Amino acid sequence: LGRLYGPLTAMSNVQVDVMTALVSFERVLEVLDLEPTVAEKPGAADLRPAVAEQGASVELDGVVFRYPGADEVSLASLESVATLRHDPTADTLRGVSFTVPAGAMVALVGPSGAGKTTVSQLVTRMYDPTEGTVRIAGQDLRDVTSASLRDTVGVVSQEAHLFHDSVGANLRYVRPDATDAELERALRQARIWGLVTSLPEGLDTVVGDRGYRLSGGERQRLAIARLLLRAPDVVVLDEATAHLDSESEAAVQEALDHALAGRTSLVIAHRLSTVRAADLIVVLDDGVVAEQGTHAQLLARDGLYADLYRTQFADRSSDADGGEGAEDA
Ligand code: ATP
Repeated sequence: LGRLYGPLTAMSNVQVDVMTALVSFERVLEVLDLEPTVAEKPGAADLRPAVAEQGASVELDGVVFRYPGADEVSLASLESVATLRHDPTADTLRGVSFTVPAGAMVALVGPSGAGKTTVSQLVTRMYDPTEGTVRIAGQDLRDVTSASLRDTVGVVSQEAHLFHDSVGANLRYVRPDATDAELERALRQARIWGLVTSLPEGLDTVVGDRGYRLSGGERQRLAIARLLLRAPDVVVLDEATAHLDSESEAAVQEALDHALAGRTSLVIAHRLSTVRAADLIVVLDDGVVAEQGTHAQLLARDGLYADLYRTQFADRSSDADGGEGAEDA
């Protein structure tokens, strides 16, 4: 900062404001230092050899998690963070354990606010657990490099993020060396090749806010193509498709079937066909695992899942009985 301060003192009117801004920025950094953010540990290991050797299982082991909330950060500067940290009433996850075996699909269900999204954020290591451990292929995520974790875990969220750039560039962002043939293959599997070839400039068509406007379903399928190109061993998927018309929804579903086939997947499930096809359903309620089992086992239990099934899943008539398309993988 010394080199910045020197020239700044030569400035007159703006000087004070800029200095104040710099000082508060420093203070923010100090506060952030008190709250260890997710950072790569020195000497962190590459996750991929373990994945290659034993498959990409995902395991949550006694996971307790509380969000580093805004009030906590300001209080942190008053040095009362130590007492706040252990207030169990503020824990979003309160001891969650379950395993997704390598290659299996686990559906995560539960009422709104139960902690489903939070679990998915811990698996992608957007946060570290407050207590307990998240492992992939037996490796504690705190011990692996962020690059190898990014290579191993792919995310499909409800909001597909596309850059204001060409279709090709949006895909090559994750695999700069991908050939046109590889792009085509991923786009075909994601059921979006037909659309891309109909665009004015094909792969070179600029998409995004100021470019060609893709529909929600098209954006999702492009995001799925990007995932397929990256071919991660683990897929974390937030399945909500409520805002799509039924034609888009069917196309997105086909694309997802491709994306999940043969991979370890953790799906925040909203569709009956998904929960029926899941190897295991984990039912979260208020930060704990209330039940786990298969669709048939949990219905027979007649507990929270059976309630959710009646209220959330069974009334989605579009994929009611039959479980169409649910049996591949
Ligand atoms: P939904 O089905 O409505 O998406 P969910 O099961 O995914 O819900 P989460 O989004 O994981 O639930 O939220 C669990 C709890 O954590 C909620 O009480 C929520 O308010 C809280 N929470 C979520 N994100 C944050 C955050 N960034 N900071 C503080 N609290 C949060």
